[in-house]
Amino acid sequence: MPYTFNGGVHPPESKHATEHLPVRALAVGETLIVPLQQHLGVAANPVVKPGDKVARGTLLGEPAGFISAAVHSPVSGEVVAVEPRLLGLGRPGMCVVVKNDFEDRWAEGCNVESDTATLTAEDIRRKVRDAGIVGMGGATFPTHVKLSPPENKRIDTLVVNGAECEPFLTADHALMLADAGAIVLGAALAARAVAAERVLFAVEANKPDAFEVLDKVAAFCDNATALLLPTRYPQGAEKQLIKAVTGREVPSGGLPMDAGVLVQNVATCAAIHYGVAFNRPLTERIMTVTGPCAASPGNFHVRVGTPYADVLREVGFTSIPVRIIMGGPMMGIAQRSVDIPVTKGTSGLVLLDEVPDDSWHACIRCGKCVRACPVSIIPSELSVLLEAGRVDDAANADMLDCIECGCCTYVCPSKRPIVNWIKAGKAELAARRAKERKAAK
Ligand code: SF4
Ligand code: SF4
Repeated sequence: MPYTFNGGVHPPESKHATEHLPVRALAVGETLIVPLQQHLGVAANPVVKPGDKVARGTLLGEPAGFISAAVHSPVSGEVVAVEPRLLGLGRPGMCVVVKNDFEDRWAEGCNVESDTATLTAEDIRRKVRDAGIVGMGGATFPTHVKLSPPENKRIDTLVVNGAECEPFLTADHALMLADAGAIVLGAALAARAVAAERVLFAVEANKPDAFEVLDKVAAFCDNATALLLPTRYPQGAEKQLIKAVTGREVPSGGLPMDAGVLVQNVATCAAIHYGVAFNRPLTERIMTVTGPCAASPGNFHVRVGTPYADVLREVGFTSIPVRIIMGGPMMGIAQRSVDIPVTKGTSGLVLLDEVPDDSWHACIRCGKCVRACPVSIIPSELSVLLEAGRVDDAANADMLDCIECGCCTYVCPSKRPIVNWIKAGKAELAARRAKERKAAK
């Protein structure tokens, strides 16, 4: 197979428990906790207060700037609080708490089909923004921003990301089997918004049934081709996927548009279709709940704002998990509470029965991390610098090019927590630069 990128690893896929299961609808709970920040950028500003009646799709928070996203009610009912709650990144964030009235009424004008044939690029962007759509592969970048490249950036290719390279996760796989038509129609709208001339649907070889379906449905989209890629992590990362399917390199510090490419995840494309053609705000998603402790693992339609506890009650335990990961085990984040809500970016929960030994040793200069690094930096050098607290030297050694994929940590025989050190180093640098900017003002 010709499509590939540099470096990467092939960890055990561990997708067997859910990869052939259809999507199940999760019962909607009594209380939904809807974060005003479910996206990269600035949190939405709340536009409701306790006591307000809402319908499904009612605006709860409006975008607070260009790089921000709208947030809507996932159910009909009543707002009972606007207050901080613990979120998946480990910090509290402002949330709108909605008590469900179980009538599931849509707000006026929502969930109504409209004609898309005459929509201009600007119309599509506006509808995507109004629907609060963000990247659903985990990055959560506001989609209307990605659909608004500067005039001097010509995008000729849309890559639709169906790689789902993280172990355990099968939510995108389930979506490709269940709703390929929505993915292709959404991709066509995204391509129209940026005037892309071709659309490439990228699926890894461990999902041949999804490839087959997309390959057939892609015929309904102009200049579209489905591509089957070798299974390799982190193929779903934007720059690696672009390299794999177009052969183009995104420059260091650059964006996909610098290589003439827009990348959208399959779930984001489906959300674009429903947002634009049905005026349906993004208030639910498919997520995988799996792992050795899951009694009834599966792929679930879940309303945004559903506390993990409601999801886990449906799935049940074979034994009490020692760790719950949001996302996959390579890039996911350990969760501190089951009261945390599902957001637009929650692709899955993995329930683990053991945690790896976290003791590490000195670097033995084996070079495995260097061969595995997909962005061709030297993780071993970064690990030595960061272990010694030399953050500025690490920055000079290309630390900021790291995509935090975790391949270096995965292959290291000395179990050095390289990616954790890099994340901490980047955070320290960002905090210091913010302080310097403030002082300069
Ligand atoms: S240094 Fe960063 S990009 Fe390279 S393998 Fe490690 S985590 Fe991935
Ligand atoms: S894999 Fe680990 S031990 Fe080997 S060179 Fe990299 S940091 Fe050193």
